[in-house]
Amino acid sequence: MEGPTLRPTDSVTRLRGVGPVLQGVLESCGVHTVGDLLLCVPYRWEDRSTAVSPADVLEPGRPVLVRGRITGLRLGRPRGRGRRVVTAVVADERGTLPAVWFNQPWVAKALRGRGPLFFFGKVERHSRTGRLQLVNPEIGADGEAGGGIVPVYRPMGRLGGRRLRGLVEQALGTLDELEDPVPEDALKGLGLPKLRSALERLHRPVTPADPVERAALLGALERRETPEQLRLAFDELLALALAVGSVRQKRRRQRAVCRVQRGVRGLDLPFELTEAQRRVVAEILGDLGGPHPMARLLQGDVGSGKTVVAALAALAVLEAGHTVAFMAPTELLAEQHVVSLGRLLRGTGFEPLLLTGSLGAAERRQVLELLSGGGPHLVVGTHALIQRAVQLEGLGLVVVDEQHRFGVAHRQALVAKGKAPHLLVMTATPIPRSLALVAYGDLELSVLDELPPGRRPVRTIVRRRSEAGRLWSFLAGEVAAGGRAYVVYPRIEASGELEVQSLEENAERLRASLAGPGVGVVHGRMGRAQREAAVAAFRSGEIGVLLSTTVVEVGVDVPEATVMVIESPERFGLSQLHQLRGRVGRGHRPSWCVLLVPDVLPAAAERRLAVFGSTNDGFRLAEADLELRGPGEIAGFRQWGADGLRFARLPWDHELLQKARQVAAMLARTGRLEEVLQRMAPHLAGGEVPGGG
Ligand code: ADP
Ligand code: MG
Repeated sequence: MEGPTLRPTDSVTRLRGVGPVLQGVLESCGVHTVGDLLLCVPYRWEDRSTAVSPADVLEPGRPVLVRGRITGLRLGRPRGRGRRVVTAVVADERGTLPAVWFNQPWVAKALRGRGPLFFFGKVERHSRTGRLQLVNPEIGADGEAGGGIVPVYRPMGRLGGRRLRGLVEQALGTLDELEDPVPEDALKGLGLPKLRSALERLHRPVTPADPVERAALLGALERRETPEQLRLAFDELLALALAVGSVRQKRRRQRAVCRVQRGVRGLDLPFELTEAQRRVVAEILGDLGGPHPMARLLQGDVGSGKTVVAALAALAVLEAGHTVAFMAPTELLAEQHVVSLGRLLRGTGFEPLLLTGSLGAAERRQVLELLSGGGPHLVVGTHALIQRAVQLEGLGLVVVDEQHRFGVAHRQALVAKGKAPHLLVMTATPIPRSLALVAYGDLELSVLDELPPGRRPVRTIVRRRSEAGRLWSFLAGEVAAGGRAYVVYPRIEASGELEVQSLEENAERLRASLAGPGVGVVHGRMGRAQREAAVAAFRSGEIGVLLSTTVVEVGVDVPEATVMVIESPERFGLSQLHQLRGRVGRGHRPSWCVLLVPDVLPAAAERRLAVFGSTNDGFRLAEADLELRGPGEIAGFRQWGADGLRFARLPWDHELLQKARQVAAMLARTGRLEEVLQRMAPHLAGGEVPGGG
């Protein structure tokens, strides 16, 4: 009984077996239509061409196909726990192999019977007895052997891989109707297959009869090197490139609300700008004088002097009569910026306002009134700036500091408070070029590649916790000589984890052993007044040692500080450690970053920290972080509707990205960008084409 034909654009509910529950599961994974399901390609392929005897299974690890009869079938619930376990023994004339199924009591039925069966699954070693066993193997009737290369699907929530395979089989019936979203001329010369045949071959691989060829195909699939997989990766990167291009195009059609006509009045700065700062300021002023809103990323390592660049941009816009909103990720940083921007702008007649969640009600009302009354004002704040009650009349420039700590939605929300204001985002966490092209692809890039003169490279050393006593006397000496020291902890309170140091556990002990220099504390759960008092006392030298959480990671700028001690540093990412290290080495005295590690450290952590100690180059550390941890966490992908990439692998697929960018540019030139972008929406994991601006 066939219903009307299924089409790729149909809802998944038209698939046999998909009711409201499964629909919910599928949709929560971004699968709305039958076509979306086609894009859920297998994540593994298994060779089920030849079965082996149970006697030939000699090592754990790899999945195997075993043929044999079932003996000794048992259904149990071991040690009173809830998990129901089916155990059995697979046997033939040459030997036996135990098999076990967890939480699948129904397999017992499939196993009753006399004939030989096939079992496909992973071999593991029993944790207690050390014997090899098959764990949760798939069961096939005798006739189903020689299945060739079989696709394996990643389960989606409660939808298991095998049921998913069944649904995909149904969806494959619509393949002939699937439209290729990429026009034919755009694919020319790329050596990539049509989408239709790529999907067909990934879902239903053709198994070569020759075992050598078979192994080669499996290897290529595993390494994601087949033309079919490259086609999917290409589509994903093209969709991103088109989304980026679309935002750029839209911006170029907007007119900037504030056009800075005159150059900036010189600021009376306490130092000379570096060459790099001068160049970047010129780039920014060029944008601010142009007809379209600026959208620029300022990248510069910790301490390279981004704040003064932002201050000059802000001054230009203020003098042109427009308001500037400056957003920072923490209250502490916003508070510090009010102080330092206030100092830099002294004598200009502009004074920064602070807007954070910690303001008192009266103060807050006053600031909101000033801002809605029209400017020009410079307002510095946290997320509090994007609350609905905040009206930024005459907003001409948005500055986002430490961009990597914000979601892009935040910066868009702030931009949306104005009519096409300029945007300057700043970050000290460089991301490798290929990722930047995607994550920040809609932004122009300025780079501060020079540190202010007189900086001394910070020396990084690793010390065991058992040697900490000597370290504390060293701190006391540094402070006595006019320096300051930070001690940073991964958390405020003790947790169950023994190896992770906490601020509270250590504060008393340190107060006792550091009687001389005076010890202060700062963390995110303190009120604003307390926090400001602690930082001010540290700045003035009243307190010599500041114990803190990572709230000091960004923004605290005390040039006298010469020692940064990081407790349990193995808990932090390399870029984060680099930010922390950047808090010292800002003055003219030699500085140290001390990593205080547990006496026993896993080898991998040891290696990571060694990489950190070997370079002061934030760019290299970001790349190392990427290689060690993958790009999943890198901010900026979500903006393009992709929660990370499904098929492409950056930075490794850099060449493919270049091709995708070329094709995107060609489509833009020929006026087809938006049209193709709409068709490619399913290729962005979120399934939605991001909005502009
Ligand atoms: P970041 O790029 O990390 O935000 P900051 O803007 O906080 O760096 O600057 C770090 C320190 O360097 C500040 O104390 C600032 O006053 C100082 N600084 C910035 N530019 C210069 C310069 N050209 N010469 C000397 N010191 C500078
Ligand atoms: Mg900064």
